[in-house]
This record gives sequence, C-alpha cells and structure tokens, in this order.
Amino acid sequence: MNNREHDPQDLMVVAGGGGFIGGHLVAALRAQGYQRIRAIDIKPVSEWYQVFDDVANCVSDLCELPACRDAVDGATAVFNLAADMGGMGFIENNKALCMLSVLINTHLLMAARDAKVTRFFYASSACVYNAEKQISEQVTPLKEEDAYPAMPEDGYGWEKLFSERMCRHFREDFGLATRVARFHNVYGPHGTWDGGREKAPAAICRKVIQAKESGGLAIEIWGNGEQTRSFTYIDDCIEGIFKITYGDCVEPLNLGSNELVSINGLVSIVEAIAGIELERSYKLDAPKGVNGRNSDNTFIRSQYDWEPTTTLRDGMQRTYDWIYQQFMQRASQPA
Ligand code: NAD
Repeated sequence: MNNREHDPQDLMVVAGGGGFIGGHLVAALRAQGYQRIRAIDIKPVSEWYQVFDDVANCVSDLCELPACRDAVDGATAVFNLAADMGGMGFIENNKALCMLSVLINTHLLMAARDAKVTRFFYASSACVYNAEKQISEQVTPLKEEDAYPAMPEDGYGWEKLFSERMCRHFREDFGLATRVARFHNVYGPHGTWDGGREKAPAAICRKVIQAKESGGLAIEIWGNGEQTRSFTYIDDCIEGIFKITYGDCVEPLNLGSNELVSINGLVSIVEAIAGIELERSYKLDAPKGVNGRNSDNTFIRSQYDWEPTTTLRDGMQRTYDWIYQQFMQRASQPA
C-alpha cells in the first residue's frame, strides 16, 4: 500500500503538529494533496514552527483521553509526533516529564483503536538502544535487535521503548495497524535552536553564529567533543515516515543517516560553512549522552530499498542558513 493511493479527502491527523518534525510532516501532507489535515499541539499556535491556514490547527493537551478522542475523530491515519522532549540538556534533567509522554501515546492508541483508524505511526528514538552498546566512540552501528535486553536511556528512552511495545500489542491484540520508526538525531530548519531544548546541530549553528556576529571567536563544546553520532536531515526523516507508515513492515525500524561524525567534526563543518575558525573550550561536566551511536540501515534497506541520503554538509548548510536568518531577525527587533 502506497500513500499516493490514498484519497486526498482522507483525514490526516498530526499529533505534535506545532513541533519541528510535526510541522514538516503537515507541510509534506499538504504538498501531497491531502485536503483534510488536523494538527494538534499543546503550545499556543503563535509558538508553532509552521502554521498553515488551510489546516485545522487545534490546541489541546493530548495527555488527556477525551482530547485524544476529539483529535482522532474521523481520522484515516494518525501520526504521533507529540512528546515533551529536547536535546541531552533537557532529557537528562527532566526524566519524569519525558516519561509522562507515555500518557500521550497510550491515550492516542486507545482513541485510534476505538475510532477504527487505518494507520497509526509512532515516533520512537535511537535512545531505546541498550546503553552498554554505546560506550565507545568507535561504534558498531546499532541494529534493531540491539534494543534488547533493555537498558535504554534513563527516562526518555524507557518511555519510548514502553510505548513501542504498547504499539505492538495494540496491533496484535486489537488489530490497529501500528508502525514505529526509531529516529536518529533529526535536524533541519524550522526547529528549536535556542532556549535549552535544542539539539547539537542547532546549538552548534547558533553558537558559531553568535561567535561570528559578536567577534568573540570562541565556542564551548559539551563533553570532550569526541563523542560520535549520526544526524538525519528532516527531508529524509519525512520520506522515511511515509515509507514506514504505509509499508508492510510491522517491526520498529531505524530511521537515520549512517554518516558518522564526532561533535568536533560537526563543529568543523559549521565553521567551514560560516567561514571562520573558533577557539574551542570543553565543558566536561555538561550532559553529553552516550559516547558513540550510529544507525545500521541493513533492515530498512531490505524492507524498502531505501535509506537517508542527504549529506551532513548539505543538511547543515540549509540548517545554518535558516538559523542565521532567525538570529538576525531577532537581533534586529527592539529589546
Ligand atoms: P518537538 O519538541 O519540536 O515537537 C514535539 C511537539 O509535541 C511539541 O510541539 C510539543 O509542544 C508537543 N507536545 C508536547 N506535549 C504535548 C501534549 N501533552 N499534547 C499535545 N502536544 C504536546 O520535537 P520533534 O523533534 O519534532 O520530535 C517529534 C517526535 O520525534 C517526538 O516524539 C520525539 O521524541 C521524536 N524524536 C525526535 C528526535 C529528533 O532528533 N528531533 C529524535 C528521536 C525521536
């Protein structure tokens, strides 16, 4: 089944539609011709990253079951991108808040089952993987089976792993067609770039721009900079969401780039984009997550003959340009 076979009149529901990935998903659904889209978020619409007048933009708290029932009423497909989350600085210091997102997915699943929704997508995370497999910067890319035996990221990762299982059992016991992707560090324009919830790519772009504009020419890096990651550009993430949602594979799949980079390497990429070199200092007691992590894409390639392809250099250029614009816009506003 391919999403292009769907009727443009099908009602598409995006939970977390005011967020980074949810906003891009709404934009992509519009671009595919869907005429009935409902986006829901707890934030006031003025704080959404992308707002479209032809979309039903609703503000409600999806931790509540009645709100979830209203949200999915009449829906053909539900995409759950809603969660209380952020970068390492947020998730390491707000474990209980992260775990409370379990209410969102649980209540959305119950409502979707009762509303006879035909597809339910859940956004899981690479944070479900066993921490013991991520001790070294010299990583062995993570395969889907490496989530078990379970020892995920405390708080946030446990919630994701539990919610994945909830999706599995709603499929097995109630016949709800659930699909799950494990995102690996998604980045791009129209996302959080300051305020404490931002992730490494956006934080580094902002710090480099700040250094360049202030003439300070110094940057503080969290950890020793040798920790390794892969980063997935938002367009690849959105394409993967559609493949997984409408595909036949019912198991959770990695949705991530496998271009491995150290945080120092990422800083060098952004310096090259900005055309400057900065003096680096290292904040060794800052939250930095696991030492190394990469995505093994064997499974998604075998299922969909596809994997993310945007290079980090290209994706970071587009992200930098957007953050630069935001930064300058803010700087030009009266204090
Ligand atoms: P985001 O914070 O930009 O978006 C999440 C949205 O959910 C926010 O707009 C927030 O206001 C909303 N939300 C929170 N609580 C809510 C509630 N009770 N009711 C309604 N809305 C609520 O984050 P994102 O980067 O767009 O992430 C989307 C999903 O993908 C999340 O589930 C996240 O855990 C997952 N994920 C993201 C990444 C990444 O790198 N961005 C990596 C792994 C997993």
